Amino acid sequence: MEKAEGALDVGHIKGLTKEEAALRLAAEGYNELPAGKKRTILGIAMEALKEPMFLLLMASGAIYLTIGDVEDALMLLGFVFVVIGITVYQEEKVERALDALKSLSSPRALVIRDGEARRIPGREVVRGDVVVLAEGDRVPADAVVLSCRNLLVDESLLTGESVPVRKLPGEKVAAIGRPGGDDLPFVYSGTLVVQGHGIAEVKETGVRTEIGKIGKALQAPGPEKTPLQREAEGLVKAFAVAGMAACIVVIVAYSLTRGNWHSGVLAGLTLAMALIPEEIPVVLTIFLALGAWRMSKRSVLTRRLRSIQALGSTTVLAVDKTGTLTLSRMTLSELYSHGSFFRIGEESRSLPEPFHELLEYSMLASQSSPFDPMEKAINDVRRKLLSSTEHLHDDWSIVQEYALSRKLLALSHVWQSPDDGEYVIAAKGAPEAIFDLCHMDEEEKSRLGAIVERMAGEGLRVIGVARAKYKKGGLPPDQHDFKYDFIGLLGFFDPLRPTVPEAVKECYEAGLRVVMITGDYPATAQSIARQAGIACNEIITGHGLEMLSDDELKERVKSVNVFARVVPDQKLRIIKALKENGEVVLMTGDGVNDAPALKNADIGIAMGVRGTEVAREASSFVLLDDDFSSIVHAVRTGRRILDNIKKAVAYIFAIHVPIAGMSLLPVLLGWPIMLFPAHIAFLELIIDPVCSVVFEAEPEEKDVMKRPPRKLDEPIFDKRMVALSVLQGLVVLGIVATVYRLAPLLGESDSQARALAFTTLVLANLGLVFTNRSWSRTIVEMVGVRNEALLWVTLGALFFLGFALYVPFLASIFKFGPLHFVDLFVCVVASIASILWFEALKLIVRIGGHRASI
Ligand code: ADP
Ligand code: MG
Repeated sequence: MEKAEGALDVGHIKGLTKEEAALRLAAEGYNELPAGKKRTILGIAMEALKEPMFLLLMASGAIYLTIGDVEDALMLLGFVFVVIGITVYQEEKVERALDALKSLSSPRALVIRDGEARRIPGREVVRGDVVVLAEGDRVPADAVVLSCRNLLVDESLLTGESVPVRKLPGEKVAAIGRPGGDDLPFVYSGTLVVQGHGIAEVKETGVRTEIGKIGKALQAPGPEKTPLQREAEGLVKAFAVAGMAACIVVIVAYSLTRGNWHSGVLAGLTLAMALIPEEIPVVLTIFLALGAWRMSKRSVLTRRLRSIQALGSTTVLAVDKTGTLTLSRMTLSELYSHGSFFRIGEESRSLPEPFHELLEYSMLASQSSPFDPMEKAINDVRRKLLSSTEHLHDDWSIVQEYALSRKLLALSHVWQSPDDGEYVIAAKGAPEAIFDLCHMDEEEKSRLGAIVERMAGEGLRVIGVARAKYKKGGLPPDQHDFKYDFIGLLGFFDPLRPTVPEAVKECYEAGLRVVMITGDYPATAQSIARQAGIACNEIITGHGLEMLSDDELKERVKSVNVFARVVPDQKLRIIKALKENGEVVLMTGDGVNDAPALKNADIGIAMGVRGTEVAREASSFVLLDDDFSSIVHAVRTGRRILDNIKKAVAYIFAIHVPIAGMSLLPVLLGWPIMLFPAHIAFLELIIDPVCSVVFEAEPEEKDVMKRPPRKLDEPIFDKRMVALSVLQGLVVLGIVATVYRLAPLLGESDSQARALAFTTLVLANLGLVFTNRSWSRTIVEMVGVRNEALLWVTLGALFFLGFALYVPFLASIFKFGPLHFVDLFVCVVASIASILWFEALKLIVRIGGHRASI
């Protein structure tokens, strides 16, 4: 449970106590709708039974039974269990990782408990909870509004009516009415607050809500196939078809030449098992799911797995300034009023008289218990410097608020004092907006403009403050209708996050552009950009943006990295222009109006701390700590995941060549058969964990963030890589075949030759794993790079190989003859020889100096 920042303007409301809430939760259950069926272990196992590998093993077992080979059949049965075991284990791991993510990124609610506002998961809301609703929130449960301001809710989910309905507070309402209709006090679970704010008391949760009654679930992004997964599935299908064809050829060829149908079918099944690259889809699922889980530990929650692939290909990071690059920890550090400045320092104890009015009106133009970091900063200064003077108006009451809008970056509060005949109006906002409200002449505007420019040049956010009076009675619809007098300027200091300059540098080295999009003043934006190290020669303002045509904008965004005074709905244009230039755009956002741009960007990241529910729903990721360097780290992880997928795939291609080759060659060339289903199953037991665990855990390459981004449309299985890994496999095949054919010439029996060749194959397989850990560094250089899984798999493989060779019962099933020490030595040398060329190639490429990796 995280504590929300600051107290709310809720005064007397205490809400439930923690204990009451816990009791209710236990009695009435979680506030959630029954989700789709969860996959059980049994379900996963049943699915594993449909896997081709399993079917082939079973078919082979059946053949053994028909020819009366019970031992072999039992052996295969054993393998079947192990294969299912591994599958279930892997799937369970994936399922758990995804589940954990889902609950982390599920909707949240702001409730008042024990008199304090707290953010909790939406599913923990109970009847009687007091929830705080603000623009961009989803209503967590059916509730009655206790108090609200301008509260507009989109109830189309329940009513189909897309026009938002207005809510008014209701007194002592016993039961919830039906959805639809303006000016009612009810809000419903799943509906969206589009404007205003309010507090409401929960009456129904879970399936008892309106949405629960109609049995409709909110659209959560379900498990969808990534382009990568589809690419892989196509590949696997192609191989499966080819495998079937080859299998039939082998069965026919074998049976015709050697006249034994049973053995022919067995050889065919062996080949089919050897050919199907069933590991590839497994690798993708596991790497993406576990990658998402890894990122969650570094504050980035994945909502859409497919975006992880795009993450590694990002070329532009388009980020907010406030909160992302800066800490959003504002302090009011400089005041300007009537021609003089005042710097507020640590040691300031009191405020000179001329600035009292400025601070007083700043307070009046803020919430009394503020949320906004600027307003909190104003409040802090008031408490520190003004508490003992007469400028506090506890007995005043607020009559109306005029909100900030995209047309006018200023807000006003209308106040009523008990002893005055007129309303007092306080306004604060962007300096230009305030100047405008004060109807200043050009001369005064430019005089004050220079002061604003100077303050902003120091990186301060500058806010203007003004006041007006208005006779009591009906209030005008627009802030422009008051006659404002200018009071002064406030300068807020918002420190840069200390990690940002380093992270920006990392981006530049990695070939990424960093673009700042902010609603703040250009000079402020420029100063912060400089501090962050963002290249900033030119700035485009929101106003300038309106002047540009789409084509002009497309040209300008190639070089401009700072956008200032931009309102959220202009972000979409910037994102679109960047995308049209072929960039892969990552964008951060928090507000309701950011949602379209977040959806449109290749990768949308919602701010977890400040972000609204709407922004989260539109995003692929949620950033828990709002920190820019976490984004850069996520990109880094994305690149690592892609690298590791490539490594695993390269290995998978390579290892299948000798296995398939040694299943096929003996049949075609009339050699004694070397591999039987048991051998393939044995090899699979090494290959599977290698793919799913060893390569997944492989640490990142040294140059992950030193090379340009990979193209988004570049296939993972690119031709050059596939060709090189097939070549690796061919070399291993050549050597294993040589060992297998030479052994009889040196007087070894068929079964000894099989043991020799198989041992060479297993060792060469390990060699392939080691060499494919990195395509830039040699095995020797990689020794120091820890990968515990690799150690275990290697030891396990050697251990079981030893068993198969030297436990007589197993040796007879595997049809192995005895191996002597010299034989083992031959195997080791042969397997090392099979990967040596690739190691040499790494060195040659590096000495050539043209590229960092093969
Ligand atoms: P950013 O992109 O830095 O988050 P915003 O879009 O939040 O900027 O704000 C844009 C501008 O609107 C600010 O520079 C300020 O001039 C004005 N503004 C924002 N919030 C307030 C507020 N609470 N009171 C007065 N002015 C505000
Ligand atoms: Mg903002």
